[in-house]
Amino acid sequence: MSNILVYALHHEGAFNKNSLGAVAEASRLAGELGGEAHAVVVGAGIADDLAATLGSYGATKVYKADGPEGLSGPVIDVMGKLFDGGDYQYAVFGGGLLGFEIGAGLAARIDAGVTMEVTAVNVVDGQLAAERPILGDSSISTSRYKGKGIIIARLNAFEVKETGGSAASVEQVSYEASTQSQQANIVTRGEQRGADVDIEGASILVAGGRGLGKAEGFQLAEDLAKAFGGNAAVAATRAVVDAGWYPYAAQIGQTGKTVAPKLYLAAGISGAIQHKVGMQSSENIVAINKDANAPIFEFSDLGIVGDLNKILPKLTEAVKAR
Ligand code: FAD
Repeated sequence: MSNILVYALHHEGAFNKNSLGAVAEASRLAGELGGEAHAVVVGAGIADDLAATLGSYGATKVYKADGPEGLSGPVIDVMGKLFDGGDYQYAVFGGGLLGFEIGAGLAARIDAGVTMEVTAVNVVDGQLAAERPILGDSSISTSRYKGKGIIIARLNAFEVKETGGSAASVEQVSYEASTQSQQANIVTRGEQRGADVDIEGASILVAGGRGLGKAEGFQLAEDLAKAFGGNAAVAATRAVVDAGWYPYAAQIGQTGKTVAPKLYLAAGISGAIQHKVGMQSSENIVAINKDANAPIFEFSDLGIVGDLNKILPKLTEAVKAR
């Protein structure tokens, strides 16, 4: 029972970064409990050699099922059956929407406690204790489990660490076909605008809010990010994502991503608490807002009161001229 099950999301020949962090963390925790980390992967035609590379991140065994990537039903079925076998008490998921969906579904399937947005896990009295920031990240709540426990991380909470482990053994498993077809089918896959950009890895973020006025307003933010070049990207508030002006992949905040770039330039963003919790750890925060009383100025290092339609183009020109 001291082994930990961990889900590894696979897409086009590579494992998702947050999943690799989860494997490494599960391996560390299982080690402290005196057990091993075992990974579950579901994908179309994943080579055994590729599955075995999860050994480098600490998994000693990989359960591999041939099936569709991106559907929760098959993964829940595979993991549920492994739990039914009685060998596991805990499952760990990296941050990301699919982890939330599968983790919650698995918790319901096996009647486990579930903790989401976890930022740290410790072993206390031989049991896992998961820490999760609450109340706008002002306090930490710690969950412990009476029985089985599902731990779902916040994005980037777990460091991707190679453990130097050898290749994992790979065991082929299958899922109940009905868990796929009854729930959903993948009809098509597409890329969202901005989805290819590594928001969390960017060192400069030009973030746009409702002050940009409309979807086309984001051109001003994109021009500035492009002028910075290299490791700069565009981010967004939930208000503009909900309005369909920019993709969810770029959303920062409580229900989006958590970032800590060297420079966070907030243009036309009021500074709501739900946005603040996703960017407050940025090294330097610069805000442009026409309202001198906007809350964002309370936690900015530099505040510019004025119309972003005039300021952003000038900034872009100045950056280009460097
Ligand atoms: P607004 O609050 O409308 O602010 C627009 C700002 O632009 C204003 O301050 C205005 O003065 C300024 N402005 C307007 N025109 C100009 C101009 N020409 N030049 C300069 N400034 C201008 N929000 C998130 O961002 N991320 C989340 O993850 C998130 N999660 C949430 C979860 C929950 C449960 C709830 C209830 C809310 C959540 N929100 C989140 C929403 C949040 O509360 C705010 O509504 C949102 O952040 C506001 O976005 P905004 O700053 O773009 O818009």
